[in-house]
Amino acid sequence: MLLAELREQVVRVGMDALKLGIVHGTAGNMSLRDPASGLIAISPSGMPYPTVTGRDVVIVDDQGNVQDGFRKPSSETPLHTMVYRHRPHVGAIVHTHSHFSTVVSTIRDALPPILAEMTLVLGAGVPVTRYGLTGTPDFGESVLEVVDDGGLAVILRNHGLIAFGKDFGEALMIAEIVEEAAKVYVHALAANGGREPNLVPENRILEMRNRFLTSYGQPG
Ligand SMILES: [Zn+2]
Repeated sequence: MLLAELREQVVRVGMDALKLGIVHGTAGNMSLRDPASGLIAISPSGMPYPTVTGRDVVIVDDQGNVQDGFRKPSSETPLHTMVYRHRPHVGAIVHTHSHFSTVVSTIRDALPPILAEMTLVLGAGVPVTRYGLTGTPDFGESVLEVVDDGGLAVILRNHGLIAFGKDFGEALMIAEIVEEAAKVYVHALAANGGREPNLVPENRILEMRNRFLTSYGQPG
């Protein structure tokens, strides 16, 4: 079986996302790029996460052509492959229909910097796309329009969230942080009578992020 280890990672990240409550049923999809071959392991279309095994994961090339596997790949494969083709920093993609990120997608053009933790990892905020037509190149284009090189998260208008990382550990962490920030933001708006809540001061964000990038975690 081609890229068996990558396939297992796709299975595991689906279950992890399910446990975190950021995906439900068959919604959302995940993929991982093999740095050596450039091939992509992607979740199958329309299968509940607990039923997916490594054999169900599909291997596609960067144009979405199936290279190995007997299932139909995710209906959002064109989105994944377009991101991999145009954003070399992305090694893994987690796409969810997380509730609060989706709420934000219907009312704002960006999730503003509402939490310190979010700004450490993501900087000033998370952009929201224009409405993109799912399953078509237009959807991928709507994402590329707002994600720069190095960008780690995009909220999809009236749809959900897409998080990027060098691996699934990073992409899943980003998805979790954005959803938590979106939840706090929606609750803060409600608690504040719909007025914009206090945000992380813009002039502190760069400093915080730089310190995080240079000093977070254990040395060595
Ligand atoms: Zn979706």
